[in-house]
Amino acid sequence: MNYTRRTWLTAAGAVGFSTALTRCGGGDPLAPATTDAASATLADAARSRRTPPTVVSGTTGRIVIVGGGMAGLAAAKYLRVWGGSGVQVTLIERNPSYTSNILSNLVLTGQRTISSLVYSYATVKQNYGVDIRQGTVVGIDPVNKKVTLADKSTLPYDRLIAAPGVVFDVLPGLETDAARSRVVHAWQAGPETTILRNQLLAMPAGGTFVMTIPASPYRCPPGPYERACVVADWLKRNKPGSKVIVLDANAGIQAERHTFETAFAGLFKGIVEYVPSAAVNSIDTGPSRILVNSTMGTVIGDVVNAIPPQRAGKIVLDSGLANAVGGWAGVKAATFESTAAAGVHVIGDSCSAGIPKAGHIGNQEGKTAADAILRAFRGLAPDTDLVVNSACYSPITASTASWLTAVYQYDASTGSYKIVGTGPSEAASPTSDGYSQMNKWFTTLMGETFA
Ligand SMILES: Cc1cc2nc3c(=O)[nH]c(=O)nc-3n(C[C@H](O)[C@H](O)[C@H](O)COP(=O)(O)OP(=O)(O)OC[C@H]3O[C@@H](n4cnc5c(N)ncnc54)[C@H](O)[C@@H]3O)c2cc1C
Repeated sequence: MNYTRRTWLTAAGAVGFSTALTRCGGGDPLAPATTDAASATLADAARSRRTPPTVVSGTTGRIVIVGGGMAGLAAAKYLRVWGGSGVQVTLIERNPSYTSNILSNLVLTGQRTISSLVYSYATVKQNYGVDIRQGTVVGIDPVNKKVTLADKSTLPYDRLIAAPGVVFDVLPGLETDAARSRVVHAWQAGPETTILRNQLLAMPAGGTFVMTIPASPYRCPPGPYERACVVADWLKRNKPGSKVIVLDANAGIQAERHTFETAFAGLFKGIVEYVPSAAVNSIDTGPSRILVNSTMGTVIGDVVNAIPPQRAGKIVLDSGLANAVGGWAGVKAATFESTAAAGVHVIGDSCSAGIPKAGHIGNQEGKTAADAILRAFRGLAPDTDLVVNSACYSPITASTASWLTAVYQYDASTGSYKIVGTGPSEAASPTSDGYSQMNKWFTTLMGETFA
């Protein structure tokens, strides 16, 4: 393996280097905004444009990664791409394959099947020499530098990356399996997504779909509003007279405000009722309809989709790494190294790094952590000239989508990321072009992570 970062990007066939230097790609915050979706996956090009590091032969070290999701798998791949064959990377993932949360809202409307969102680990294993093992990590020992798996085996490491995603709190009233099978969150794509799809199919015309949104931060800031839109659009066409009630624990829409406010008041006027500052107190799964008691009153739903508050993945919580407010892992923003345990990096949704919890950005956190670890193995200081970006496409109807993008620059004086410019940019309106760009962006991002 003898790739430089730049040659790999070209070899990967994702998007050429110069194309990547667009705003959506996060490469050049001063370049004009673009909606070119494909370029949005190559935010790391910003770093490579400055000092494309080459593989330094003789770099050695053992890295164990917990979790093969958007962040963990990107880290695993790039450790090998940039580290060379002397860097041993072992990734422990509890599932045999990965199911993408991204675009899983379209399973609810029948535009995607859940199987179309399933990704295999085989390519990263074969092409990059990552040792990917199925198992569950149940213990992290940062002092003796080893992890313990559920089968009681242990693995030593020089550096550990924890990327286990999130855990979901249990909402009052949903303590039993029976209650949780009636009110699913489907905020982790998989069986719950299919259950929610079937509940929607079974809902009577003129029925009520109630969604609840937890207080921020949660996984994918625009995701719940996107779900409200695509479900409203589907109900409008398939179950006339139905309503969507959105109970949001936050004081207002958390992302793409213009897009969602416009959609709720326009396209979905009379269908979507948006209620801000409505935190869930309890849910009562009665024999037929379901009662949601919130701080703004009680509503009754035929189908209730309650997205609970979230915290760092269980292994992060259990290992004492969740030392930031709200149960997230505090990290040094330039390296994603834990502020609770040296030699342990926490990336993806589990960490609190001042940037959104999203798959696109998780991919870049994986690359940033990989680069920092390789530099540490070589006795170098971390790169602090960092730019990462976030990009999300939101389907609004069955044929239109909007987009949101933001660029974050690391500020060494504060040790944190600062948003570049006045804030995130969002599409002027959802379009059919946006919908096809969304599919292109998704294919590129998933290919860049899993292939
Ligand atoms: C409906 C929806 C839509 C979304 N849309 C977008 C979007 O448009 N754009 C975007 O950028 N993001 C989107 N997201 C967010 C995105 O899916 C997450 O931010 C992203 O998956 C986080 O990556 P991660 O690697 O931290 O966690 P995950 O992708 O959840 O991966 C964590 C992995 O760790 C494994 N794991 C956990 N614990 C252990 C353990 N102890 N041992 C072994 N393995 C373990 C899990 O099995 C899992 O495979 C969306 C999310 C949802 C729910």
